[in-house]
Amino acid sequence: MPKCIFCSELEREIIVENELAVAFLDKFPVNEGHTLVIPRRHMENFFEASMQEIEAINLLIFRVKDVLDERYKPDGYNIGINVGEDAGQTVFHLHVHVIPRYRGDVEDPRGGVRNIK
Ligand code: AMP
Ligand code: ZN
Repeated sequence: MPKCIFCSELEREIIVENELAVAFLDKFPVNEGHTLVIPRRHMENFFEASMQEIEAINLLIFRVKDVLDERYKPDGYNIGINVGEDAGQTVFHLHVHVIPRYRGDVEDPRGGVRNIK
């Protein structure tokens, strides 16, 4: 099995963490503050996570929002998970994208997570 970058090469700034999950800045952000929240345990996708891990991830999403609000003052957020190659997943360690959005960052923001990448 090829090595997982989120298990082995995490050199990004950690924003917040708890016992079961970690949040860090995306290396190739689509917007300033683009953050990923992952479980510490390796699993390919959302549907393999335990309820405890989902809860730990959810708690971090709220804490990430507080930090990003303070740091970047975004006007909105997109929160999303890609599950499977056909849904756009490229890193096969579960991660939740928390993407701050800024007024005017795209011409027409309608569609939200249906359009962003
Ligand atoms: P996805 O397309 O949903 O699998 O998202 C993978 C995300 O991981 C993308 O937003 C990438 O920019 C990000 N990414 C890839 N390599 C790294 C890395 N070494 N550190 C942090 N984020 C990464
Ligand atoms: Zn991993």
